[in-house]
Amino acid sequence: MSNSIREKVEKWIRPEIRALKAYHVPDAAGLIKLDAMENPYTWPEAVKQAWLAKLHDVAINRYPDPDARRLRERLRAAFGVPAGMELILGNGSDELIQIILMSVSKPDAVVLAPTPTFVMYEMIAGFVRMHFVGVPLAQDFSLDMPATLKAIETHRPAVIFLAYPNNPTGNLFSRADVERILDKAPGLVVLDEAYHAFAGDSFMDRLGRHDNLLVMRTLSKQGLAGLRLGLLAGPAAWLVEFNKVRLPYNISSLTQASAEFALAHLSLLDEQAARLRQDRDKLLQSLAGMRGVRAWPSRTNFILFRVENRDAGEVFAGLRERGVLIKNLDSAGGALAGCLRVTIGTPEENAAFLRALEAAL
Ligand code: PMP
Repeated sequence: MSNSIREKVEKWIRPEIRALKAYHVPDAAGLIKLDAMENPYTWPEAVKQAWLAKLHDVAINRYPDPDARRLRERLRAAFGVPAGMELILGNGSDELIQIILMSVSKPDAVVLAPTPTFVMYEMIAGFVRMHFVGVPLAQDFSLDMPATLKAIETHRPAVIFLAYPNNPTGNLFSRADVERILDKAPGLVVLDEAYHAFAGDSFMDRLGRHDNLLVMRTLSKQGLAGLRLGLLAGPAAWLVEFNKVRLPYNISSLTQASAEFALAHLSLLDEQAARLRQDRDKLLQSLAGMRGVRAWPSRTNFILFRVENRDAGEVFAGLRERGVLIKNLDSAGGALAGCLRVTIGTPEENAAFLRALEAAL
């Protein structure tokens, strides 16, 4: 690169963007992939054929329905969005987080979340020049309510994100604590229910009871991570505004057709989620019985665990050498020091992970 282009980049690209690293996705070629909360199961051949037949008739020469009307109706029914509430769709819930924050961003506006949590809340806050305030979770990963209420009072956040259950800790926060935050928050409270299929609890039925509550879901963890489809449900007054910021054709016609098809086969996705919940509980038992490992209970499709008396980076590398890719959270430090996160795979993948972990320890 010539000096002159470097000077131009330094002059014109915002310093906080230059200081960032692009979201890193490790190469998983040839590895058992248990790093990204994907569903390990695909669809039976006959279902795949029916899906392809549906895609055959998609008018790919035309722009998609900008409002994805039919798909939104299907999602409303499948996810039990209460009558009178609206919903908008995003290219993954990542895009919905971006739409929300673009809509509220102004100098001094604050995004608040308990930490550690899903990293994109803070990253996107940075993209849109908002100030991120993280309130550390208590030792047991519950919300530190005195600290949270104090931070709400001090910073008057435009948006609070609560991942319910939380990533990477895997737990649900107490409903009473969440209700309290809803009552005290001056701005929006987004309940991010990305792991809803594995959680057994939801705030969807509270929509409309609190005028500042929005509920976000995604199809990613239910076996459709490749589609990129998230949804945000809540009162129309908010969503009408967000809809102005959403790019007109953000959900492709292939995504709309595929998601409609998947929702017509919802029982298949539900069965896969049920199997994963069972296998999660089995894997947790195995981890809990391992010496030198502390594993936390999970309401998601992953398990957070700490390796005691061993360097987590070395254990992570040892697993990788043995063909298993998980997520190393040690570098985040704080509550995550020594921690690794494993996504629930097929029973064979989980067994391979356990063997590799034993060997690596
Ligand atoms: N929210 C949480 C809590 C997540 O963990 C993730 C994915 N890791 C997302 C949202 C993003 O999901 P999507 O694939 O819909 O962008």
